[in-house]
Amino acid sequence: MADRTVAVAGGGIGGLALGIALRRAGTPVTVIERTATLRDAGAGLVLYPNALHALAGIDASLASAVRAAGHVPAADEVRPIVGTDGAVVATDRVGELTARFGAPQVSLLRTALQSLLVRYATDAGVRIRRGIGVSGHTDRGDEVEVHLSDGTSTTAAALIGADGLHSVVRRQLLGAQPPRYCGYTTLRGRSPAPPGFPHGFIVTADGIGLFAAPVGPGQLYWTAKVAAAAGVWTAKAPRQATADLLALMDGWHPALVDVVRRTDPDAPAVVTDINDREPVADWSRGRVSLLGDAAHPMSPGAGQGAGMALEDAAVLGGVLSGDPDVPRALERYARQRAPRTAVVVNQSRLRDHVVRGERDEFSTHDRELTELLGWRAGSVPATE
Ligand SMILES: Cc1cc2nc3c(=O)[nH]c(=O)nc-3n(C[C@H](O)[C@H](O)[C@H](O)COP(=O)(O)OP(=O)(O)OC[C@H]3O[C@@H](n4cnc5c(N)ncnc54)[C@H](O)[C@@H]3O)c2cc1C
Repeated sequence: MADRTVAVAGGGIGGLALGIALRRAGTPVTVIERTATLRDAGAGLVLYPNALHALAGIDASLASAVRAAGHVPAADEVRPIVGTDGAVVATDRVGELTARFGAPQVSLLRTALQSLLVRYATDAGVRIRRGIGVSGHTDRGDEVEVHLSDGTSTTAAALIGADGLHSVVRRQLLGAQPPRYCGYTTLRGRSPAPPGFPHGFIVTADGIGLFAAPVGPGQLYWTAKVAAAAGVWTAKAPRQATADLLALMDGWHPALVDVVRRTDPDAPAVVTDINDREPVADWSRGRVSLLGDAAHPMSPGAGQGAGMALEDAAVLGGVLSGDPDVPRALERYARQRAPRTAVVVNQSRLRDHVVRGERDEFSTHDRELTELLGWRAGSVPATE
């Protein structure tokens, strides 16, 4: 019998989630991850109801474990939208999402999410090869040969590039276009919650924004957005970048400044220039496809990059396990996912307020975006 193994390039959020989804359906999987160890890359993130539904579609107990590992807002919890003087100008009613969409917004440390995904993948029987990268592939029609960074290769029934923004698999599949710089950089860290803002806050000022959300009792993660030319902030050492951010916040309310100033010294701020790509209508070719940031990188404006990677994993896991014709399954998957992810890429750009000099309230309740949060993993027709 032909080898049904699916090779996944990249053991990030999307790659591991896909591994679990495929194993739950009985498909053998090997995840190939370039880094040797789990990195504490960038403090925390928010998962919205659609992401929780995707996780539940992959593994209900994983979705429960993610909720337990993060902060689930109480029904009446709000996240204040404040001026730089700390005065509340509006509120984001984060606690309402559960009643509206059947799942909450969960904020949690990235390492907590990544550790859970590694544990569930290992328990499900996903083979994880660490410290080795995918360098290319050859689609032979009846199988795909995956070339590895140590000069060896392995064969599989399919190769899924879940290898992030600078995906090697994408470059070979779709060409070597550079990503588009979105006009701002981000700094991310975690710190104790200041008095008065136990559940975080959102500030948008001229060319700078600050978002903070809980990741556990008394602890927040924060993300600052700073309009700047590409490469300027990433060239700084983390401590220098944090000091320069604090200088930009001169005169802000002390509680807001404290969130950055009291950043955990064991986890210095992570600086990341923000890039996305123009959406494409299709990203599958033969036995090779893409998932997550490799397929549709987006700015963090809508907080949906990981959510979309999890949705991809839920859909692709079902489609690929349910159809023995691999190229047909991959084509259906991309056709199903491309329109929705294109909308989210564009919605994310619209929420990059910091580069457009807008002082608008940022609200995750913006109508068009909110409609997207009700997504659930649905059944996919066997043929179209
Ligand atoms: C500032 C900021 C804030 C964000 N906030 C949120 C948020 O609140 N909510 C949300 O949903 N999303 C958020 N995101 C987006 C989210 O982080 C990404 O969309 C998500 O991590 C994508 O997952 P992925 O698995 O596709 O890619 P990645 O997480 O990038 O994982 C790719 C993996 O592939 C590995 N790899 C790379 N190249 C190779 C290779 N050649 N061979 C093998 N392995 C390779 C990498 O080491 C990595 O482990 C944010 C992003 C940023 C920058």
